Amino acid sequence: MVNQSEVRGEYLKNVLETTAEKNVYEKEFLQAVKEVLSTLEPVIEKNEKLYKDMALLERLVEPERIISFRVPWVDDNGKVQVNRGYRVQFNGSIGPYKGGLRFHPSVNQSIMKFLAFEQIFKNALTGRPIGGGKGGSNFDPKGKSDMEIMKFCQSFMNELQKHIGQDVDVPAGDIGVGGREIGYLFGQFRKIRNAYEAGVLTGKGLEYGGSLARKEATGYGLMYFMREMLHANGIELSGKTAVISGSGNVAIYACEKALQMGVKVLAMSDSSGCIYDKNGINLDAVKEIKEIKRGRIKEYLNYVPSSKYIENCGNIPPVYTVKADIVLPCATQNDINLETAKLLTANGTCAIGEGANMPCTNEAVSFFLQNKVLVAPGKAANAGGVATSALEMSQNSMRDSWSFEVVDKKLEDIMINIFKQCKEADKEYNLGNNYVAGANIAAFKKISNAMIAQGII
Ligand code: NDP
Repeated sequence: MVNQSEVRGEYLKNVLETTAEKNVYEKEFLQAVKEVLSTLEPVIEKNEKLYKDMALLERLVEPERIISFRVPWVDDNGKVQVNRGYRVQFNGSIGPYKGGLRFHPSVNQSIMKFLAFEQIFKNALTGRPIGGGKGGSNFDPKGKSDMEIMKFCQSFMNELQKHIGQDVDVPAGDIGVGGREIGYLFGQFRKIRNAYEAGVLTGKGLEYGGSLARKEATGYGLMYFMREMLHANGIELSGKTAVISGSGNVAIYACEKALQMGVKVLAMSDSSGCIYDKNGINLDAVKEIKEIKRGRIKEYLNYVPSSKYIENCGNIPPVYTVKADIVLPCATQNDINLETAKLLTANGTCAIGEGANMPCTNEAVSFFLQNKVLVAPGKAANAGGVATSALEMSQNSMRDSWSFEVVDKKLEDIMINIFKQCKEADKEYNLGNNYVAGANIAAFKKISNAMIAQGII
C-alpha cells in the first residue's frame, strides 16, 4: 500500500530533500510535491537511470518561469491600493500553459506553485494538449464594488498580457475569479492588443466566445468521475447522501449534478459556516444567494427556516460533522486534516471526491486509503473544468460553438477516460484501489515521455 505521507526510493528522496532545501518557506508547494513523489516509486524504479541522467524529476519540480508583478489600482475612495500578481508557467511540454487565476488574500508564491504543479498532472490526464500553469493575486474581491473589481482586473491585465496568448498561456477562473472578472480581463486584453484573440482566456461569457457547459463543467465532471469510481467498486450513487464544502462554482454544480443523479445533499458551506438541511439542499436558493446576490450561505435560513446554520468553531469545519455517505470538498486546500478524516471514516463515509485542489492533507488521504475509503483525487476528479476550457479553446479556434449537449457529452467521455487511466495504473502497479497514486502515475508517464523527447530544456 502506497503511503501518501512517505517518499521511498533513493532518487525520489534526494529530489524531495533538495526541493525542500530550495523552497523552505513554500509549505503548500512542498506538500504537493511530496504527495506526487510518494506515489512514483513503482514507475521510477523501472527506468531510474534514464530519469536520473535526464534530471527528469529535478526539472519536473522546477517551474519553467515565475512572473511576479505589482498591481496598483485606485479604490472608490480615491486611495491607491497595491496588490501582488503572479503567473507561474510550470511546464509547457504538452501544450500552452493552462490554469486558472485565483484572487484571494491568502495567495502567495507557495500556493501559486502548488496549484500550477498540480495542474501539470491534471491537464495531462484530460488528453488535451495543455501544459500546467496558474496565477492570481492576493487581492480580496469580498466587499469590493463592481467598479473596484473592474479597475483591479484592468491593472492586473496591463502586466499579464505581456506573458499570455492563445498559443502561449491561457488563464481561466478559480477562487474569486468567475464570469464577471474574466469579462473585465478579456476586455482589457482586447483593448491593449487591438485584436480579437478569443482563445487567450477561457470561462468567457457566452456572448463573446465562451462555451456552453463551462460553468457547470468542474462540478459535473466531479460527479461523472464519482459515478465511475463507485460503480467500479460495486457501489450505486443513487440514493446516497452527500455533504459539500464550499458554495462557489464547483460546489454549486457538483450539487446540481448530484441531485440529478439521485443523491441527497444535506449540507453546504462557505468560509464562515455551513447550512444543514435534513430534507435536502434547495439548490435554487443557494444559487440565488451566491450567484445573484453574492451573499453568504447563512442567508439560506431566510429561504428554508427549518434548516440549521452552524458557524465555524474548532478544528473541524462543521460541514464535515454532518454524517453522509459521500463527502465532496469543493472549497479550498487542506480543508480535511487527519482529525477530520478520522471523524468522516468513523461516520461511515464511503467515498471522498476532491472538487477542490488538494482539499485533503497527505495524512488524511493516507488514512482514508488505509481504511478503505475511496478517494477521487482532485487532479483527476476536478479536471472537467480545464478539459472544458480546452473545448472552449477548440471552439474559438474553429470560430464555432457547440450545443450544451455536445459539450456535456464530450466532458462526460473525458471524465470516463480519466477514471479509466487511474484504474488501469492502479491495476498495472497493484496499488489496491489507490486512484490517487493511479492518477499521478498515469499523468507522470505522459509528461515524462514528452519531457524526455524534447531534450534537456
Ligand atoms: P469560488 O470562488 O467560486 O468558491 C469558493 C468557495 O470556497 C466559496 O464558498 C468560499 O467561501 C469557499 N472558500 C474559499 N476559501 C476558503 C477558505 N479558506 N476556507 C473555507 N472556505 C473557503 O471558487 P471555485 O468554486 O471556482 O473553486 C473552489 C475550489 O475548486 C478551489 O480549490 C479551486 O482551485 C478548485 N477548482 C476550481 C475549478 C473551476 O473551474 N472553478 C477547476 C478545478 C478546481 P467564501 O465565499 O466564504 O470565501
